[in-house]
Amino acid sequence: MTNFLRRTAGHPQIYGHRGARGVLPENTMAGFAYLRDIGVTAVELDVQNARGRVPVVLHDPLVPMAHTRDAHGNWLPAPGPKVIDLGVDDLNRYDIGRMNPATDYAARYPQQRPQDGARIPTLAEFLDWAQADAGLLINIEIKSHAHQPDLGDTPAILAEDVATLVQRYGLGARVVVSSFDWRVLSALRQQAPEIARAHLSFEQPGQETNIVDGGALMDGLDRANFGGSLPALIAAQGAKAWCPYFADLTPEDLAQAHALDLAVNVWTVNNDDDIRRMISMGVDGIITDYPARAQHLLGAAVA
Ligand code: MG
Repeated sequence: MTNFLRRTAGHPQIYGHRGARGVLPENTMAGFAYLRDIGVTAVELDVQNARGRVPVVLHDPLVPMAHTRDAHGNWLPAPGPKVIDLGVDDLNRYDIGRMNPATDYAARYPQQRPQDGARIPTLAEFLDWAQADAGLLINIEIKSHAHQPDLGDTPAILAEDVATLVQRYGLGARVVVSSFDWRVLSALRQQAPEIARAHLSFEQPGQETNIVDGGALMDGLDRANFGGSLPALIAAQGAKAWCPYFADLTPEDLAQAHALDLAVNVWTVNNDDDIRRMISMGVDGIITDYPARAQHLLGAAVA
């Protein structure tokens, strides 16, 4: 195996999703530090640009209301403003260390421990921290909105700004950049082909966020031109990994991806049964909000 993201079947890499969202506030330094504490050696985080082309670690294009308080300690009454319109100083006024108990989001993560005072990290801050941990594998998901371009910088700018930081911190060998907006990955391939790329996909019946052949999310690509195979299409883009929604993955596609030396990292796998099933299918990576749970199940499966 020449691909650093491949793993032996039954021994997948566990990636903490947004740090470890099930146990600590998402995309916070506390969540990232927790992974190190429990010995999980890969992380997934979300990145977009704030004003002035500063990459920051945050999932939503609007400041999220579900886990954000303003400078006065009040819950945001609605999502917003746009992250792209805010400078880092503006973003630093928000406390993202606790979920608003009145939201559905809070109900979904009953075990999450608050970290009052937690701030939105910049990508530079995260990479500076990650530099000291030579064993950490970093999946940077670039958030880009193909259907609503006013929500952020262009794919080319996002790719350039993230690549510049990854190179500045000398982390190219242990970073993989992923995106649902494959235009970002095409731009990155042009600008910094040495940085590994992973194509995210979602294909559940009737879902608005599905990838569509020939559509913008897929950068106009169509699997019909690759024998009807999504793994073949992605491998032909020079990618190192495919990140399908775990319930979309078939044994046939997994086998084809592996035949093409493409790693398959599934998201977001949180239930015991689903984690066990993905381990036994032979995926290369499991992206989960509960990395300690996955670690435990993996230990049990291997023992
Ligand atoms: Mg993500």
